[in-house]
Amino acid sequence: MGKITGFKEFERVLPTKEAVEARVQHFKEFNKGYSENELNKQAARCMDCGIPFCHSGCPLGNVIPEFNDAVYDGKWEEAYQILSSTNNFPEFTGRICPAPCESACVLGIHSTPITIEEIEKHIIEIAFKKGYVKAHKSYLKTGKRVAVIGSGPAGLAAAAQLNKAGHDVVVFERDDQVGGLLRYGIPDFKLEKSVIDRRINLMKESGIEFKVNTEVGKDTSIYELKAYDAIVLATGSTVPWHMQLPGHDAKGIHFAMDFLTQQNKEVSGMTIEQDRILATDKHVVVIGDGDTGSDCIGTSNRHRAKSITQIARKPTPSKERLKSNPWPMDKLTFGTSSSQEEGCERLWATETQEFVQDENGHIKGVKIKEVQYEVDEFGKRTRLGESEIREIPADLVLLAIGYQHTEHTLLEQLGVRVDEKGNILANDKDYQTTIDNIFTAGDCRKGQSLVVWAISEGRECARKVDEYLMGYSELESKDFLT
Ligand code: FAD
Repeated sequence: MGKITGFKEFERVLPTKEAVEARVQHFKEFNKGYSENELNKQAARCMDCGIPFCHSGCPLGNVIPEFNDAVYDGKWEEAYQILSSTNNFPEFTGRICPAPCESACVLGIHSTPITIEEIEKHIIEIAFKKGYVKAHKSYLKTGKRVAVIGSGPAGLAAAAQLNKAGHDVVVFERDDQVGGLLRYGIPDFKLEKSVIDRRINLMKESGIEFKVNTEVGKDTSIYELKAYDAIVLATGSTVPWHMQLPGHDAKGIHFAMDFLTQQNKEVSGMTIEQDRILATDKHVVVIGDGDTGSDCIGTSNRHRAKSITQIARKPTPSKERLKSNPWPMDKLTFGTSSSQEEGCERLWATETQEFVQDENGHIKGVKIKEVQYEVDEFGKRTRLGESEIREIPADLVLLAIGYQHTEHTLLEQLGVRVDEKGNILANDKDYQTTIDNIFTAGDCRKGQSLVVWAISEGRECARKVDEYLMGYSELESKDFLT
């Protein structure tokens, strides 16, 4: 172990961020990272626990104490090898993961957890700079062909692993660029798109073929899939929830993804010719308190909105609960991100009642009511009462209340069944759908989730596809860790 007394000597320090006034002027990442000295200290805080709960806290089973040790010792190549043995894309998770590993860190019981996510980002960025991250060409080919449908983190992870196993992999993507929600959902201030391009270039160099602007079932017939020995469906969870409240058809009410996608396209240099959704000089109301809601707030602040109000149905995080819980649950449980500190009023325990339109049918206000809850120590809520209904001003409403399930058109063509929630029916043991050679991973199977889960599902699914094709698999699995 690197430094036995590190956890006693050093405090948890988060990296500095560009000041709010400066960062809202642009869409670039604003986390300034650690100095080498600070990084060394933060890694030294790891206690190398007998039972490292961070392993199981991480959906990928990242072997965290081991890479912390390597960082402390300045063994960058070793740190990178350890990290990349369980995670294909640490440059994504190191930037945008809500870090369930930190919520599982044992040091959090007595003190504050290790800054695992930030350390992960430094390892991979240093590895790229030092030239350790290379294309993974497989010279032993199996002669089997696999089609991956969808190029979000689940599809990309499955493709990377299947390519490593020696199969010929083609990734189909209906968008004009690869990346799924990493590309057109998550804003650049959280994840600059050059980070995705850098990885995709390596994947192409590794031999993976990408076919963009190709919606399977529409631009390409499902009969063309017969050329493949196995298929992985990684189509994401893209059907949004709507709010069928009075006035819901008002102009100026948009799904969050329409707003965010336009902005990401504009940042990448594309021109949005029609129906540009702008928050500039508007009273913006964001309904929903997850990552999507936070991203709408960050984007609205960069547009220079007049005011931003975020509405959440869940009650405010109680101070007592936060105090009695030493782990950083804010990001995971309350959707708190750097966007809220850039400016926004947060209304907790608030229910939307009606969208109020002006004489032209444009949104002008949102009627809401506050609900009083009692929350017990386990987080169970009892409704005690509610306020009078009041109206708040709104020129733009962004619906960020989540996604129902994946789209069903392609599934119907393929004859693949869905579960009662509308997600693709397949368990997390074999990832196999109701059709023998069709597998599935990510949000389309699990329901809307996180990037780290999508990568984990893609990896585990790839192993099952490999077993199906070859009768055995040498690909890694997190099952080996438990
Ligand atoms: P997706 O990323 O949705 O990718 C699916 C892909 O399949 C898409 O590119 C789609 O175009 C393609 N596709 C669908 N049908 C077809 C077809 N028939 N033919 C070809 N292509 C098809 N998670 C985090 O961990 N941290 C965050 O900060 C975070 N922020 C988020 C912000 C927003 C705005 C949103 C919406 C989600 C966020 N998430 C975040 C969740 C995370 O992005 C998803 O859980 C993750 O991207 C799911 O990966 P996936 O590969 O399953 O699906």
